[in-house]
Amino acid sequence: MTKGAKNASADYDVVVVGGGPSGATAANELAGQGYKVMLLDKAGRIKPCGGAVPPRLLKDFDIPQSLLVAHAHSARIIAPSNKKVTMPVGDGFVGMVDRDQFDEWLRDRASRSGAVRMSGKCENVTTDYAGIATIAFRSGRQSTRQTVTARAVIGADGARSCVAQKCLPNAKRVPCVFAYHEVVKVPDIIDADYQEDRCDVYYQGHLSPDFYAWVFPHGDHMSIGLGSANKGFPLRETTRLMREQTGFAHWETVRKEGAPIPLKPLKRWDNGRNVVVAGDAAGVVAPSSGEGIYYAMTAGRMSAQAVDLFLQTGDARALGTARKAFMKAHGRVFWILGMMQYFWYRNDKRRERFVKMCDDPDVQRLTWEAYMNKELVRRDPLAHVKIFFKDLGHLFGLKAVER
Ligand SMILES: Cc1cc2nc3c(=O)[nH]c(=O)nc-3n(C[C@H](O)[C@H](O)[C@H](O)COP(=O)(O)OP(=O)(O)OC[C@H]3O[C@@H](n4cnc5c(N)ncnc54)[C@H](O)[C@@H]3O)c2cc1C
Repeated sequence: MTKGAKNASADYDVVVVGGGPSGATAANELAGQGYKVMLLDKAGRIKPCGGAVPPRLLKDFDIPQSLLVAHAHSARIIAPSNKKVTMPVGDGFVGMVDRDQFDEWLRDRASRSGAVRMSGKCENVTTDYAGIATIAFRSGRQSTRQTVTARAVIGADGARSCVAQKCLPNAKRVPCVFAYHEVVKVPDIIDADYQEDRCDVYYQGHLSPDFYAWVFPHGDHMSIGLGSANKGFPLRETTRLMREQTGFAHWETVRKEGAPIPLKPLKRWDNGRNVVVAGDAAGVVAPSSGEGIYYAMTAGRMSAQAVDLFLQTGDARALGTARKAFMKAHGRVFWILGMMQYFWYRNDKRRERFVKMCDDPDVQRLTWEAYMNKELVRRDPLAHVKIFFKDLGHLFGLKAVER
């Protein structure tokens, strides 16, 4: 007997909409606990993504090293003046995943845990007077409309979440950065400034007026792209210019693709009845960096825990614990990264100072420790104080002439 079967009044205990990192994680956790789970995913499109993940993700979610197609041991950041600062990672690394393999592995794991996989596009979620949700979706070659019922729904269907838009107030207008990248084949003879174990991050206003541009290694391939919240910014054309600027213009292009990145957690993740959202659908991508995979999986896990509590108690307030737990663990970091983006990504003068600041060993150490461990480093308060004053000095230009 499944964990939820004694209360069975619906086809499933939980329908998870969206089989990206967030939904696949949530489905895996709930199916593993014995709930009757359906994982509904649109399928057919590889998620556009730089694919950079911290080692903590492998540890927290039991992900095999074999899914990493590259390990970056340093990041090189490039200022508007073209000044380059290399930040060695130290003992750690930044892992790179290819999303076609990574996401499929996660979905397959959920299925091995007992979740029923279904390909289809969710179109609507409604709830009857008894609190049972009906999920309407289109599936198959004929795009046939089908429905299933569930006691709870997790909406992990990405930045333009259908579930959030149908079930939550104020979910329609999420502030987003629009990101675009090209997947490029690395040639046998490397004739440009490229290293297979280094991430390059460009803070140059002509490449991105309010975010950044990147070159990330992916084994045989690499990802070159950029983002901007400015809707009129020509992402494709600027990527073409960037490829010329960096010497990658003639390397073979495999795919060109883009997607929005939501940079602000929604104020509410649940509908107070039976639906909770997670991952990009909840807006949990880190400002400044655009890092979303780790946070999507974390939010997926927390939404699964909230749904478990809801199904056990019948108390819909339990659904609110997902957002609470997430903001408690990561809200402060998101706030700091949001402030950083606001201050440092405003114009080239500030970007120049930002890159200069990153030359500082204390800044590098704390940056990597925070990235690797996904929490603020508490054991070294003096370093934070030092960085705070350095930060202010750089912001007001006091350090700009030092070196
Ligand atoms: C260009 C780009 C580069 C990025 N680079 C990085 C990076 O290097 N590192 C990092 O950590 N993050 C990066 N991100 C962010 C990261 O990709 C996302 O934060 C992450 O994928 C969120 O996971 P998710 O599961 O919430 O949503 P998604 O990965 O978007 O998954 C949503 C899933 O829902 C499905 N779906 C959507 N609509 C429906 C529907 N109506 N019915 C059924 N299924 C549906 C989709 O098929 C998809 O499988 C990048 C994003 C972009 C756009």
